[in-house]
Amino acid sequence: MTDKIRKLKPSTLAAHVGRGHADHQGAVNPPVYHVSTILYPDVATMEERGTRPFDGMTYGRFGTPTTFALEEAVCALEGGYRSIAVPSGLAAITLVLESFLKCGDHVLVSDSVYQPTRRYCDGHLKRQGVETTYYDPLIGADIADLIRPNTKLVFVEAPGSLTFEIQDIPAIAAEAHKKGALVAMDNTWATPLYFKPFEKGVDLSIQAATKYIVGHADAMMGVVTCASQDLWQTVKAHAAAHGLGVGAEEAYLALRGLRTLPVRLERHRETAILLATWLKHRPEVLRVLHPALPEDPGHKLWRRDFTGSCGLFGFIFQPIGKDRVDAFLNALELFGLGYSWGGFESLAIPADSGIKRTVTSWTPGGPTIRLHAGLEDADDLIADLEQALRRL
Ligand SMILES: *Cc1c(COP(=O)(O)O)cnc(C)c1O
Repeated sequence: MTDKIRKLKPSTLAAHVGRGHADHQGAVNPPVYHVSTILYPDVATMEERGTRPFDGMTYGRFGTPTTFALEEAVCALEGGYRSIAVPSGLAAITLVLESFLKCGDHVLVSDSVYQPTRRYCDGHLKRQGVETTYYDPLIGADIADLIRPNTKLVFVEAPGSLTFEIQDIPAIAAEAHKKGALVAMDNTWATPLYFKPFEKGVDLSIQAATKYIVGHADAMMGVVTCASQDLWQTVKAHAAAHGLGVGAEEAYLALRGLRTLPVRLERHRETAILLATWLKHRPEVLRVLHPALPEDPGHKLWRRDFTGSCGLFGFIFQPIGKDRVDAFLNALELFGLGYSWGGFESLAIPADSGIKRTVTSWTPGGPTIRLHAGLEDADDLIADLEQALRRL
């Protein structure tokens, strides 16, 4: 990335980076390259290109102009050295863990991490001989006490999946770096627009692009962005070793979604705050989990490190039975019942069964619900919540 590009504002980057019109006869969007095989004019060229397989198009699995354009655009927004697109957000997470951890190594993972990340650590990594220690998401600089000589990586995610705690990422990164460990972050909630991972000490930033980057609930994609060339080379080599190429149509959809990310996210942000503020005044609600609300325990850190919030937040009901919670969820008409989030549509899920802790406890005093505020009108969404609350 040139210094000139680096100075542009995020909306401008989202609209301009990764277009490469000169190469596409003027088309605004890079075409979808459907390709596995690349032909070479002669053996000498073939052999020479074989010595640098990740430089331009050499084989479909290693990337095409469509995927390179997506990687370039995400990288510009994240502010890293270079990005790698992979088939899903979870693939981006496991790729990062797998790239830097081998038998005998130790990894520190937040206790509020996305559940499938935990499952990968407790299953696959354990079988590989990698030990995982979970830590309190609010640990901050005290993470130093948990770092061992063989700790290679600290995994952070803020806010916590389903529970929305904000982590002190700069403090954690400073301690990790003092002891030679890398910091990887699941940055899906804030997107690169509302949290700048590399300015806060993160070495590897992960996007489940399936969520806001794709933005339309119609494709799966993950992106790993690396702080340096060395890190990029390591991750790219591992991605290639595992055969993690991405489909051309998916890359195109992710790039198309990215172009409108700044305007969509602003609307998701605004609506979520309206809903959260409305919910916190309801007698049925014990507490709202949203770091942008001033009374939230994570608010101070959020305000220091983040520049915005997205459409995803939670709330805790007053103590009531599961049948009542289910009646509320079933009564929702505009909020779909569905996992995932980040699309244009509003969603709701009961969150309790997905919250697994091993070193901290989650006892909020009532059932936990997660909402995704979509792009519908906030008044309609509030009316929907209100009629569903009457079913309690
Ligand atoms: C959904 C999600 C993922 C995984 O993304 P997929 O594309 O569904 O694999 C990772 N992290 C977070 C925080 C998520 O919400």
